[in-house]
Amino acid sequence: MTSRNKTPLLSLPIEALPGQGYRQRQLAEWLYGKGARQWEAMTDLPKGWRAELAEQYRLGEFAQVQAFPSRDGSVKYLYTLLDGQRTEAVYMPYPNRKTLCISSMVGCPAGCTFCATGRMGFGRNLTTAEILDQVLFVAYHQGHAPREIRNLVLMGMGEPLLNVDNVFAALERMLHPQGLALSPRRVTLSTVGIPRGIYRLAESGLGVRLALSLHAPDDETRQKIIPTAHRYSLAEIMEAVRHYYAQTKRRVTLEYTLLKGLNDHEWQARALAQHFKGLSVHVNLIPWNPWEGAPHQGSPRAQVLRFAALLEQQGIPTSVRWSRGRDVGAACGQLALAQPGGATAVGRG
Ligand code: SF4
Repeated sequence: MTSRNKTPLLSLPIEALPGQGYRQRQLAEWLYGKGARQWEAMTDLPKGWRAELAEQYRLGEFAQVQAFPSRDGSVKYLYTLLDGQRTEAVYMPYPNRKTLCISSMVGCPAGCTFCATGRMGFGRNLTTAEILDQVLFVAYHQGHAPREIRNLVLMGMGEPLLNVDNVFAALERMLHPQGLALSPRRVTLSTVGIPRGIYRLAESGLGVRLALSLHAPDDETRQKIIPTAHRYSLAEIMEAVRHYYAQTKRRVTLEYTLLKGLNDHEWQARALAQHFKGLSVHVNLIPWNPWEGAPHQGSPRAQVLRFAALLEQQGIPTSVRWSRGRDVGAACGQLALAQPGGATAVGRG
């Protein structure tokens, strides 16, 4: 059987992995604890069983992976999937933690005008195994055990709440104690605001954090920035967010990309603060990252700081996220498969 016709082992829930009891736990440990990417590496599994597994299941989801290291230490990974489509992840090491930003789709249907991925259009949803393997591959390439990656954000290509089944299944394996054993508090799912997906997340019991990419406090401006935003009004989105908060008591993060003359006015800072009265929220202001052919300009630094100060004055905790990885197109809104110089092919997945 060719690799493409085999069942991805990562598609199986931990409890449904082949084997039973001790053997099943051993296999889960090889996959998620040690990050093995070859059957031969699983030396304490019986040889015959390994051969049987190799006949039926595949371990890796990528035909090829390229790494683009940035001057600031972050690394953009470009994954070619087995059907030739491509997606990306960004690894960001900080002195006290290792963070990974992964994708849920090839391209994205939301079409945000400031986002290079939105310009690409929609390719397809990623499978559960493709979502998980982004994490496992980065750990392998960086020489870490997979469980050393303690912070994860679903903020790369795609809208996770339009790929709910696969994203939630991947999250279950990430949070499972025999999986990646991530703490739900250290996993953030970022959405452009899909109310029915937010309700599902609230009811799912996964307990991960929600980040809302609002980008404007009024429907009119929002529809200019996010063409698909007319499907859901801000009022509907905020109702879903309030429900999520009531169910989970998790602080909501608000992502707000500042675009010059469009959504960076003082009245907009005040209106934004009004929406979040009574909710536990933290605002991340994102100075916009330029890319070739983009129809926007970023807000000047002084305006970014003024907007932040106004939110703080209204009692909204705010920070400014000066982006990492700009030089390799790995910063927020820049993920669109650009291939700057300095790529390292890091082999087949
Ligand atoms: S910002 Fe996010 S939701 Fe909007 S187009 Fe880009 S990837 Fe999609």
